[in-house]
Amino acid sequence: MTLDIQKIREDFPILQQKIYNRPLVYFDNAATTQRPQQVIDALNKTYTEYYGNIHRAAHFLADKATTAYEETREKVRSLINAETREQIIFTKGTTESINLVAFSFGEAFIQAEDEIIVSEMEHHSNIVPWQLMAGRKGAKIVMLPIDDDGRLQIEDLEKLITSRTKLIAVAHVSNVLGTINPIAEITRIAHSKGIRIFVDGAQAAPHLHIDVQKLDVDFYALSAHKMYGPNGVGVLYGKKELLDQLPPYQGGGEMISEVKFSGTTYNDLPYKFEAGTPNISGVIAFGAAIDYIRNIGIENLAAWEHELLNYATEKLLGIPGLRIYGTQPEKSGVISFNVDGVHFFDLGTMLDKFGIAVRTGHHCADPLMDHFGIQGTVRASFAFYNTKEEIDVFIEALKKVIAMF
Ligand code: PLP
Repeated sequence: MTLDIQKIREDFPILQQKIYNRPLVYFDNAATTQRPQQVIDALNKTYTEYYGNIHRAAHFLADKATTAYEETREKVRSLINAETREQIIFTKGTTESINLVAFSFGEAFIQAEDEIIVSEMEHHSNIVPWQLMAGRKGAKIVMLPIDDDGRLQIEDLEKLITSRTKLIAVAHVSNVLGTINPIAEITRIAHSKGIRIFVDGAQAAPHLHIDVQKLDVDFYALSAHKMYGPNGVGVLYGKKELLDQLPPYQGGGEMISEVKFSGTTYNDLPYKFEAGTPNISGVIAFGAAIDYIRNIGIENLAAWEHELLNYATEKLLGIPGLRIYGTQPEKSGVISFNVDGVHFFDLGTMLDKFGIAVRTGHHCADPLMDHFGIQGTVRASFAFYNTKEEIDVFIEALKKVIAMF
């Protein structure tokens, strides 16, 4: 199917504007995507038609809001092919999902001297929560290295695994390199040794078809704001037998069955992990975002983004002194680069004056920056609403900026 990109773009009001009198070119999609009118309408509709606190009240508004909230849970279940809706826990984002697992898995399964393997290409949010947990438990973090093409050294994995290894934490897609990691293979190795696997899907869920059963992962996390949905909403998927064994992450309303000063019992899944009033309107509007991407078709948007990636990569490689970090064939629409003699921050700031939004800096991946011996990069990241014409504008602007330096 060929996508009608111009028609799709009409759904995104923010893309219609000019920045410094030039049409906006939004290439910061790995940081956060923009929302189609359908998602904005869903958010608006929740507040204007059926807003009430979910699960707890017997009145009409609360009931409608509860139904809509739970419908999104079913949509997420179906999107990632989880077995049951009990396994879909709403959080405020990937970061919170990781902190939840690091805390609760740590409490249930980690002893002093145990080891957690974390890859070198991780976002800080898939490193620091494990470090905090390791600090509390006296456990150790072991790094799974990458090579200079941005490929995980899977062949090292078996050597890194010891009798103390309890969990492997790895990104499905790197937010800097775009590398798509072989999750099914890593899971197979982990499970053959009785080790659990946590997958950070923040950069994968917006671009790939995810099937948690096929991947056989133990935990999977994603963020709605990177998937054309509202910010402040995320998901944690977990295997039921594991989630059942984990203690709650936070205490409060909703997560309890019965509270007594003599002792409290906890609610069933998924509510055991959803303490307090969640982002009700955000979750409901996330349902609209899922409908939107499924209407386009994940395969269709992935194919278009791949075309954009190839087009931009070829053009960028034609620029003298430009180096791309992350050159794996299995790659999503993220390009990180530096240009000899020009600081990434200057490049980004000047591109902004051309109406082009890219990200600069360490991209919350200091260990990865250390691997390449750099402080940061420029990162252009694509979504299905981007066009080849925008890439042309970007390349021309980039050449002008480089010439200025
Ligand atoms: N993991 C990866 C790979 C990311 O790219 C990001 C955000 O950029 C996160 C985790 C954190 O996501 P959030 O800020 O939505 O919690």
